[in-house]
Amino acid sequence: MEYSLGTLRRTHYSKDISPEIAGEEILLMGWVHEIRDLGGIIFVIIRDRDGLMQITAPSKKVDPSILEDLRALRKESVVAIKGTVQEAGKAPNGVEIIPAEINILNLSNQPLPLDPTEKVRAEIDTRLNSRFLDLRKANVSSIFKIKANMFKTIREYFYENEVIEINTPKLVASATEGGTELFPITYFEKEAFLGQSPQLYKQMMMGAGFDKVFEIAQIFRAEEHDTLRHLNEAVSIDFEASFMDDRDVLKILDGMITKVLQSTKENCAAELEALNFTLDIPEGPFPEVTYDDAVDIINSKGVDMEWGEDLSREAEKALGDIQDGFYFLTQWPLAIKPFYAMPDSERPEISCAFDLMYKNLEISSGATRVHQYDLLVKQMLERDLNPDGFGAYLNAFKYGMAPHAGWGVGADRLAMVLTGVENIRETVLFPRDRHRLTP
Ligand code: ATP
Ligand code: MG
Repeated sequence: MEYSLGTLRRTHYSKDISPEIAGEEILLMGWVHEIRDLGGIIFVIIRDRDGLMQITAPSKKVDPSILEDLRALRKESVVAIKGTVQEAGKAPNGVEIIPAEINILNLSNQPLPLDPTEKVRAEIDTRLNSRFLDLRKANVSSIFKIKANMFKTIREYFYENEVIEINTPKLVASATEGGTELFPITYFEKEAFLGQSPQLYKQMMMGAGFDKVFEIAQIFRAEEHDTLRHLNEAVSIDFEASFMDDRDVLKILDGMITKVLQSTKENCAAELEALNFTLDIPEGPFPEVTYDDAVDIINSKGVDMEWGEDLSREAEKALGDIQDGFYFLTQWPLAIKPFYAMPDSERPEISCAFDLMYKNLEISSGATRVHQYDLLVKQMLERDLNPDGFGAYLNAFKYGMAPHAGWGVGADRLAMVLTGVENIRETVLFPRDRHRLTP
């Protein structure tokens, strides 16, 4: 067996091969998707990143050694095939390749743990166990191409708006919000945690004079629940801006999501088609529902909810039944928002905080933050948090902290909306949940 690529180099991806280049000699590299040996003619379908290409070998037209090579192939082996492009009305892309040379670069074992041609549908657990094979399916890889375009668009949006990209530590000494949803780790002789949010660090950058920052990074939450929208490791898109309030950053979020929707529609038509999903782009700014109104709507739908409670799953669903698409939930009770949320100047029981929802799925939480040291300490104490545990953070508020606001978007949840999948595990290459730590 050859272990060197030698001079073999791809000349075309499957998507670049069309009737216009009939007669040209090309070299295709990819995986053996299907083999049909009809005796007098052998069809092999080769799959590469962008699609499928039919290799047609009629016994009368090709060398017997080629037929022998093709018969030696096994499904999902990696090959390099040299051949001539020929117009073929019946072939999927209107073209086929008449092979002149077959190079098996790596032979696949059989049987396969998973069938990438989707003839047999597999459960999500089986799929995740053999994720590398699962990702060979066009509908599955489409999710990640859409997600890559999403991150590209978001970065472009931030750079256009002069937002500085930052990286903050994921090994931290204390909790962001004092919650219990933390993964403890051993950090030499000390206890430490995996970061649940860059919240405190991005706020400290408002005291560093960075004005507008963003970070796209992993967050870790030791949440016990096993749902279709929570993972224990997720990616968060965080934004924080000085001299802005909740209204300003809400508009920036609306603008970012709208740009992502448009860009997905423009750049990912083939991927959306592979997923058999139509993406709707709403016109104008997303509607807003106040928390007060939400409570009325939820109760009118027969779900009991008191003013001051966080939305239960049933409440989110009741609201999502009415709101078809993205909407902002605004004016939340202060007591159920984190200590760093700013109280409303006219109604102190209300916070300047909002959530962005898509139907019944929370996509983002944002707020005007408290920038006054005394108020921050007061709000920590009201939530039974010990300010001593927040020394370095609090220090940043003593020596000139700019007023600021910001939000965090769950990237994997946003990817669910863009791809129409119901389970967040579909949008993460190697998801981490209550039961899964490998692969
Ligand atoms: P939820 O109420 O849905 O559990 P949350 O209010 O606890 O979410 P935040 O702390 O507000 O979440 O985090 C900001 C965003 O990060 C959320 O709106 C969501 O999109 C995303 N997110 C939070 N936790 C998770 C998780 N465990 N898995 C995936 N995404 C998450
Ligand atoms: Mg939230």
